[in-house]
Amino acid sequence: MMRRWLCIASLSVLAACETVQTTQPGVVGVDRPQSMLFSSAQINASAQSAYQQLVTGAAKKGQVNRDPAQVERVRRIAQRLIPQTGAFRADAPGWAWETNVISAKEVNAWCMPGGKIAVYTGLIERVQPSDDELAAVMGHEIAHALREHGRERVSQAQAQGVIIGVVGAAASVSRGGMDLTQLVVELTLNKPNSREHETEADRIGVELAARAGYDPRAAISLWEKMQGLGGSQTPQFLSTHPSYATRVDDLRVYAGRVMPLYQETQHRR
Ligand SMILES: [Zn+2]
Repeated sequence: MMRRWLCIASLSVLAACETVQTTQPGVVGVDRPQSMLFSSAQINASAQSAYQQLVTGAAKKGQVNRDPAQVERVRRIAQRLIPQTGAFRADAPGWAWETNVISAKEVNAWCMPGGKIAVYTGLIERVQPSDDELAAVMGHEIAHALREHGRERVSQAQAQGVIIGVVGAAASVSRGGMDLTQLVVELTLNKPNSREHETEADRIGVELAARAGYDPRAAISLWEKMQGLGGSQTPQFLSTHPSYATRVDDLRVYAGRVMPLYQETQHRR
């Protein structure tokens, strides 16, 4: 119902309301039509610019890729996960992927539209994830990009009149509203994903990890560790995710479903 309303409401604003399937369902079977009011090219251009601004800003403060061992580790995991994105969409392995480690206390990681990844040192140092667990986080974040959840959320914002002055182009000018680049930053850093998007990212994430040879059950131990941080330390992106019990139950089912993919990679070693 919601999607239908969005399309009707936006018809007067934009000509094109496109219903798409951004990804193949994979073994985990994520299959949901998505309504888009912007093209991938528009959103990816905005994300690229947003990412560049963020990384450049952090680099000026000496907060990017300070510890070579951490950077090597995070990039090695990314390099194993990225080729597996082809199982969900053929174009993704060829995206202009970038991976950087940001020095910040928050327990956080994200992947902007088009494959722009950031992992915060707060996640590495406070959660102390194993490689399998770090792959679970990164697989989850990469899944948001594959499903183009950012594009979908920007489309929803457009339908609600949040964006002004960007009709027809990835224009950076707005009058009173947010431009696309600002909005991508806002959605990536501050606005929680919907429960539906989180569940999709969890399921695709475990499959990416399994295909890359990481134990998909690590997603469960990861969330247990995250939960263990507790209280005021609970990461923002965890507190806004589906309830802990629901999430872990779902991860158990889907990690189990992709175990054969993981086991196959172990035989190959
Ligand atoms: Zn998420």
